Amino acid sequence: MRLLVTGACGFIGANFLYYLFETDPDVYVVNLDKLTYAGNPLSVKPLEDEYGGSRYFFEHGDIKDPEVVGRIIEEHRIEAVVNFAAESHVDRSINDPSPFVVTNVQGTQNLLECARRAGLEQFVHVSTDEVYGTLGPEGKFTEQTPLAPNSPYSASKASADLFCRAYFETYGFPVAITRCSNNYGPYQFPEKLIPLMFFKAENNEPLPVYGDGRNVRDWIYVRDHCRGVDLTLRKGKPGRIYNFGGDAEKQNIEVVRTMLSLLGKPESLITYVKDRPGHDLRYAMDFSYAQMELGFEPEYTFERGLKETIDWYRNNRDWLENVQSGQYLEFMKQWYGER
Ligand code: NAD
Repeated sequence: MRLLVTGACGFIGANFLYYLFETDPDVYVVNLDKLTYAGNPLSVKPLEDEYGGSRYFFEHGDIKDPEVVGRIIEEHRIEAVVNFAAESHVDRSINDPSPFVVTNVQGTQNLLECARRAGLEQFVHVSTDEVYGTLGPEGKFTEQTPLAPNSPYSASKASADLFCRAYFETYGFPVAITRCSNNYGPYQFPEKLIPLMFFKAENNEPLPVYGDGRNVRDWIYVRDHCRGVDLTLRKGKPGRIYNFGGDAEKQNIEVVRTMLSLLGKPESLITYVKDRPGHDLRYAMDFSYAQMELGFEPEYTFERGLKETIDWYRNNRDWLENVQSGQYLEFMKQWYGER
């Protein structure tokens, strides 16, 4: 399959590329990434080394640019698109929502339009459980739960989802949406909870926990999410939405305490900080539709996934330090600057 995968220098996209190259011997991928602060070419360097120029191609560009997207689809005879590219951090969206509208809404609409004009037959748009808003202590989100986004980030993702819906309803364009709960695993940018807490704990710095730490998230190991996206690409039906989750509801404070115990660090490092405005209380995913239609099952328990994640960060300190120091930007200029 000849794929355009967007945002694959980011956390989930990079993991998705490793999953693809491990599981599909014929896959051909163009990775279109703008290399924002969250995009790190080091994350996909082994693929560049092994398959660069034959089955893997990097394009430094913006999903919002019709010329770039149109050219890639034509030049590489792309058959399907998987859209991971996004501004993805809730706190940044609270600080300044506008880049979220530009990339997540306009960027997605441009990809849909270029793919539609080229007559592509499969488009997977990667979305989030956050579009559903928040839950009380009971119940789970299903694909029928009404959209009720509470942050500028989730509002931009919900808007993109609605454009996907409109492209299916208006043009019959074959787009499927995946909505997934909180991911964790290798290559996650250290502004997100698990790598942030790892980095702070390793340096014996205070671990900032929002509010009383009782907000609940349903955690999924990134490889399980990648399998869900791949199943959607190969077996998903046009116009459908598929929820994915890890069956692992945890309070944030539980996650932090488990990490401290695995790292052998004291709980006295925990510091409670002022809660995030509009902080959703609880997310939980009902993924029975994906189980039934796609045969999806999460394979990682939270305990196994967390242990593997911590081992990965321990064994890849250079990756983490490059991100922290911004050296990866230098790498990016050297690696891609002259191409
Ligand atoms: P990330 O922030 O780690 O990576 C985003 C990537 O997109 C980066 O490489 C960045 O350079 C690239 N990008 C940003 N703007 C771009 C643009 N205009 N053009 C091209 N590339 C651009 O994000 P992530 O955590 O890997 O999330 C990937 C997708 O999955 C997002 O759409 C996100 O909404 C969704 N999602 C994430 C989670 C999670 O827990 N991380 C959960 C559910 C859904």
